[in-house]
Amino acid sequence: MDEALKLETLDPENWDEMRALAHQMIDDAFHHLETLRERPVWQPVPEDVAAKFQVPAPLEPEGASATYQDFKDTVLPYPMGNTHPRFWGWYMGNGTVMGAMADFMASIMNSNLGGGNHVSNLVETQVIDWIKDMMGFPTNASGLLVSGGSMANFIGLAVARNTNAGFNIRESGMHAATGQLIVYASGEVHSSVQKAIETLGMGSSSLHKISVNADYTIDLAALEKAITDDRNAGHQPLCVIGNAGTINTGAIDDLTGLADLCEREKLWFHVDGAIGAVAVLAENVKPKLVGIERADSVALDLHKWLHVPFEAGCVLVRDKTAHRDTFALTPEYLALQTRGLAAGNWFSDYGLQLSRQFRALKVWMSIKEHGLARFGRMIERNVEQAHYFAGLVAEDPNLEMMAPIGLDIVCFRFNPGKLENAALDALNKEILMQLHEKGIAVPSYTTLRGQYCLRIAIANHRSVQADFDLLATEVVRLGNDIKGQ
Ligand SMILES: *Cc1c(COP(=O)(O)O)cnc(C)c1O
Repeated sequence: MDEALKLETLDPENWDEMRALAHQMIDDAFHHLETLRERPVWQPVPEDVAAKFQVPAPLEPEGASATYQDFKDTVLPYPMGNTHPRFWGWYMGNGTVMGAMADFMASIMNSNLGGGNHVSNLVETQVIDWIKDMMGFPTNASGLLVSGGSMANFIGLAVARNTNAGFNIRESGMHAATGQLIVYASGEVHSSVQKAIETLGMGSSSLHKISVNADYTIDLAALEKAITDDRNAGHQPLCVIGNAGTINTGAIDDLTGLADLCEREKLWFHVDGAIGAVAVLAENVKPKLVGIERADSVALDLHKWLHVPFEAGCVLVRDKTAHRDTFALTPEYLALQTRGLAAGNWFSDYGLQLSRQFRALKVWMSIKEHGLARFGRMIERNVEQAHYFAGLVAEDPNLEMMAPIGLDIVCFRFNPGKLENAALDALNKEILMQLHEKGIAVPSYTTLRGQYCLRIAIANHRSVQADFDLLATEVVRLGNDIKGQ
């Protein structure tokens, strides 16, 4: 072998040059964040730029500087936009500077949190302890940081299924069930729950969607009746899912009512708190979440309302043994040791992944940097902003509220009067497209009781009052323009 090739590594050929480039990257990153407000919330990727993403992988090095320049020219200018103060689409978080720096450091350490006796696992354990404490869960509960709410729901429901099915599902599989296992949730439940149920082999027909009250919370009487009817039909009710903040309107189910019912009916109580669970930190939401601490499992997201950079979610499970019994599988090459690096906690026993990234670091550093109280204040302010915007909607005869505000989500539309529903739908769809395409703001959309709405989900620590004034003004201006055409 060539002498030079014997020494080849993936490290920089020149550390000083790489250090200078890294400093430049930091400067560019800070400039990017400091000037967010001056740029459009979103802009499409131009065709000539998009074409660059169709060339095959290089065989030979392009080098660090050229690679970074390419990123700067073709990637950095065209983000989704959810870092911007006027991004309120779907349900996102903004990210934080320290969160991003922590991600960098996590990659520098490049720990694998599948398990083992190293400090990264202590960091994740502490983060989970903090979250248990925040949610009022007992100290002996278990938890796992995961990619997000979808995976947290999946894990919670997997433990529910394996624990409450009444037979050894890991060994026998779903076909050993004598009756259909049924999961209940309101019709407003998030699609990730249905995906989890399908993937767990229970079939989407096992998700019984229960009707909602006028405020989009689950109708408890209808739920109780469905459970009785299903038992009479020979089915096996398994689990009830409570929503702590629905995706459409932010509705928080009566969690105490659900906890009582699950206790009476001996059903697993899972809470999808991807949106609202962390709002226990906010004084103006906390009372509405009472009962969440009684759940058997809770899914929550840290990359939404806590603004930890994607991806970061967490699942808590009250019964640690049930959690472990669902996922632990220890082949000889992973056999537990009491000394050395192989000792310690193995998070891989609590989920699907063996290799796991050090996502705990960005959560740990974010919480330490800002403290939980500040996160609580950010959440509180977003809720107040939702009501402020609703006030603007109420004041303007051209705007109409479409649902009560459950949390920080406002569903509304432009309605100048005298238009049929179909015309109103088309008009509001066009308003939304123009808001996006002109880079003014990013709301998203939903359909409630058959009517198309514009929807803002205010999980944004950068939004200020003037941003909502602008949105109200622009929706009306665009609406009138489009209508007049
Ligand atoms: C976002 C969301 C999810 C899914 O979470 P991800 O982090 O996107 O995987 C689940 N439930 C609700 C209510 C959500 O808003």
